[in-house]
Amino acid sequence: MNKEIALIRGDGIGPDVVEEAVKVLNSVAKKYNHVFFYKEVIAGGRAIDMFNNPLPKEQLELCLNADSVLLGAVGGPKWDNLEQNLRPEKALLGLRGGMKVFANLRPAHMFPQLKSASPLKDEIIASGIDILIVRELTGGIYFGEKGMSPDGNSAWDTEMYSKKEIERILKVGFEAAEKRCKKVTVVDKANILSSSRLWRTVAENIHREYPEIELNFLYVDNAAMQLVRNPSQFDVIATSNMFGDILSDEASQLTGSIGLLASASLGDGSGPGLYEPIHGSAPDIAGKNIANPLAAILSAALMLRYDFKLEDEALAIENAVNSVLDEGWRTLDIAGNVEKTRALGKLVGTKEMGDRVVSALLNN
Ligand code: NAD
Repeated sequence: MNKEIALIRGDGIGPDVVEEAVKVLNSVAKKYNHVFFYKEVIAGGRAIDMFNNPLPKEQLELCLNADSVLLGAVGGPKWDNLEQNLRPEKALLGLRGGMKVFANLRPAHMFPQLKSASPLKDEIIASGIDILIVRELTGGIYFGEKGMSPDGNSAWDTEMYSKKEIERILKVGFEAAEKRCKKVTVVDKANILSSSRLWRTVAENIHREYPEIELNFLYVDNAAMQLVRNPSQFDVIATSNMFGDILSDEASQLTGSIGLLASASLGDGSGPGLYEPIHGSAPDIAGKNIANPLAAILSAALMLRYDFKLEDEALAIENAVNSVLDEGWRTLDIAGNVEKTRALGKLVGTKEMGDRVVSALLNN
């Protein structure tokens, strides 16, 4: 199979982790006789420096014309004080909106080898954590009308959802649940927000098409609490843009490290998907060869699964990551007792972790 992949290395640790994901994709290509071509796309802080624009139109076009898009992360303190339209995050919203990727799939899976890295007590995580958060990505308050009064004394953002937007994201949630444990939890704030009440009505209607799926509702404050009290009750969580943003970061930490979690952002299937680790650009550790590249590597696996329909190859990456963790290799963020891990010779940097995954993949 020949595929063209747009690479947005981005800022901070973005280039560090994307480099390792590319190494792993190349080893998949070698093992399974595929050809992956790459084209570089500049977005985020780097694009602000080069073009005074976080996402120039031509760069978005490069993404739209690719078969798939892999993003590291964007942003950093250098660009924090720019006006809103010039901030790196604008590139993320521009990519998501421009590529029409309305469904963000964020698996929060705890690798059993890393149970000790979870902040939760053993008895709470005894039955593991395996949650798929399906977050609406191109609507809601992040895209709604916003503004500030001329005197600067008040400001507003608007949460607005259409029935169509809710329907299409909930269908993604129900369909994902069909292949998993057949349970969807819709998270909202229906006791306060009218947009949430619309989510509930739409969810109840769509549920009729998926009678084998169990549907329940939770207010977002309760959901945040239930995630730490009893995470194994969840299978698929379907929710709005902002609630999904917050809950998926919480869920990621429960699994051990933000450096492990991948995400896929998908549209209606007519264009490429956008694959990225859920972490940010981590400027504090950028360029130091200590960032964990596994979230980016696992994002590449999701790309193979969803955009290229290469399930065996996706599984090969996931199994390789699993065996590297089984062998005890750890980056700093998942090392637990760092001195002990170092003494055992198992503490590795970004590049070595990538190399370990490549050799596990090629040798299994
Ligand atoms: P962050 O995810 O970058 O970092 C949070 C903490 O997690 C830091 O201590 C960091 O060192 C650590 N961390 C993150 N990824 C790691 C990895 N792969 N390996 C080891 N440790 C890791 O979040 P932040 O500090 O809130 O944001 C930093 C910058 O990233 C900001 O400019 C923010 O706007 C941007 N950001 C970008 C994205 C994106 O591009 N999708 C997402 C979130 C934040």
